[in-house]
Amino acid sequence: MQEHRITGIDIYQGTIPMVEPFRISLGLISEASFLFVRISSSGGVDGWGEATPISQITGDTPSINAAAATDLAKLVLGKDPLDIEARVTDMGRYLAFNSSVRAAFDMALYDLAGKAAAFPLYALLGGGKRQLLTDVTIGIDEPQKMAEQALKLKECGVPAIKVKLGTTADEDVRRIECIREAIGDELPLRVDANQGWDFPTAVNFLSRVVSSGIEYCEQPIAHWNYDGFRRLRERVATPIMADESVFDHHDAFKLTAGGCCDYLNIKLAKSGGIHTALRINAVAEASGAKCMLGCMLETRLGLTAAAHLVSARPNIRYVDLDSYLQLREDPIIGGASWDGSTITLPDGPGIGAEMDPVFLERCERTTVA
Ligand code: MG
Repeated sequence: MQEHRITGIDIYQGTIPMVEPFRISLGLISEASFLFVRISSSGGVDGWGEATPISQITGDTPSINAAAATDLAKLVLGKDPLDIEARVTDMGRYLAFNSSVRAAFDMALYDLAGKAAAFPLYALLGGGKRQLLTDVTIGIDEPQKMAEQALKLKECGVPAIKVKLGTTADEDVRRIECIREAIGDELPLRVDANQGWDFPTAVNFLSRVVSSGIEYCEQPIAHWNYDGFRRLRERVATPIMADESVFDHHDAFKLTAGGCCDYLNIKLAKSGGIHTALRINAVAEASGAKCMLGCMLETRLGLTAAAHLVSARPNIRYVDLDSYLQLREDPIIGGASWDGSTITLPDGPGIGAEMDPVFLERCERTTVA
């Protein structure tokens, strides 16, 4: 077998404006900041990964990630890129929390391993190629504007609409009523409060929308409130999904063993990449819980990596990989393609997506070699 050592790491920082500012209960997002990592190996292959932090959730910012990426690059330089278990363990021991920058390195290692094996990532993960259907998300706005957006999405044929909520119960109920008036009763609605409610507000809201066809409710209350999650499940019929409450497999175990949620939302930027995402899914599967694969504001690089993972693990039932629709620019060559809500994976080795060199020229670059 060809021997591989990590010979260099290139780190690129860049930003892409959003098509429209996007409001969630945690704040208004108007720009996406990225850190892209390329890991090169002595075996003549390289791998790409992406860090897309939302600081209110992941606890890291673009500038924190830029500093941390240089430190992580020094940590992995000279090591075996195919020993992903060891590399991920080293990074986790060196850098607690700060999951999005570790995700970029993890993703690049999997991309590199796939290229070294000449396998698409889904095959490297031991899975098959499936066609995926993603929902599309509507940000918090006036009820009538959200209803107009929902109607447009229905006309585009999306399989489900995810609705951001998390203000007051009265306002959020009105939003759901307006959307249902516009789109009818057929299309599934998923709601996400992003921790915006307290326990009584969550009970109030969910008790009033029982006939509105809410498929599940994502992160109704604060990320630390596991006991509130458990009590909420006893009070309401709507299935509850944990998002900001689950970063790794330890969180997944506590949530599922404690009866705190029905579903888990995995995001590579939270789990620190694919390696721990697989562990979360395994814990969830063992407990009978389905997973969703969600996104922050990733480009098609991070989204394609996530789509490979969904394709390889059918227990990841729900797909929420729509962030590229919100970005003004697509800096990725190749990768998965979106036809409306239908995602088709590439057949090339690894993630199968490369960075556009024209975009990279505009980015700030650091090299560790
Ligand atoms: Mg969420």
